[in-house]
Amino acid sequence: MEKSLVVITGASSGFSAEIAKLFNQAGFPLLLLGRRVEKIEALPLNFDNVMIEKVDVTDQKVFAASIKKAEAVYGPVDLLVNNAGVMLLGNVLTQDPAEWQTMMNTNVMGVLNGMQIVLPGMKERNHGTVINMSSLAGKKTFTNHAAYVASKFGVHGLSETIREEVSGSNVRVSLVAPGAAETELLTHVTDQSALTDYEAWKESMGGITLNPVHVAESVKFIYDMPQEVNIREIDIAATAQDA
Ligand code: NDP
Repeated sequence: MEKSLVVITGASSGFSAEIAKLFNQAGFPLLLLGRRVEKIEALPLNFDNVMIEKVDVTDQKVFAASIKKAEAVYGPVDLLVNNAGVMLLGNVLTQDPAEWQTMMNTNVMGVLNGMQIVLPGMKERNHGTVINMSSLAGKKTFTNHAAYVASKFGVHGLSETIREEVSGSNVRVSLVAPGAAETELLTHVTDQSALTDYEAWKESMGGITLNPVHVAESVKFIYDMPQEVNIREIDIAATAQDA
């Protein structure tokens, strides 16, 4: 059977780079989105069926135009992985509110933007899947994560609401909620003491974090289930993670 278009946001590093590799190896046409396209272009992929577009997920117009462009080549999108996200750790008493805004805009608005773009077509076709990358911080609290936690609880809440709303159209909405993993996520943190606390916490668990490959496998597992089966959520963390 011909494989349908898979769209992955924030494909330049971390989880999404691994997700892109898995779907690429399985022969799916891909639309890979991110701001640093040169990093996406450097991924070890077979680029025959890969379109790369410079997209900031907070800009819905550009986001929508990129999907329209890919659909004209590969046909309708059947899977959107809303993975793009930022985690700017900090204490709310001192953190610059601009950092809260960046997290809300990217982690919440970016996900809503993507869902509004693809869901009408999926409902019309009675087929499609959206997988949102949340976090264990989308269901429990962590010190110095207040605004990030707020954004990821938001992802959990909006995903379950929309899942209910589109379930009657045979469209799946699912969540992956990972624990701590080694990606570029921490490189954007500006609060040095929050960063030191986070690193100390990881060290207290023996320095072992989740390999992003397993997050990618979870996404693929959700998608590979028959369309009438929706794995609503996968929570995945290193066994050694205590929180
Ligand atoms: P990375 O920092 O490695 O990757 C984040 C990706 O998001 C990058 O490719 C970045 O691309 C993209 N991105 C960020 N902002 C935007 C934007 N405005 N528009 C488009 N793309 C954007 O981190 P991870 O792989 O770890 O993060 C992926 C997701 O997983 C996030 O949602 C994160 O919250 C979540 N997560 C991560 C955990 C971890 O411990 N690593 C744990 C739980 C959840 P570019 O800068 O090129 O635009």
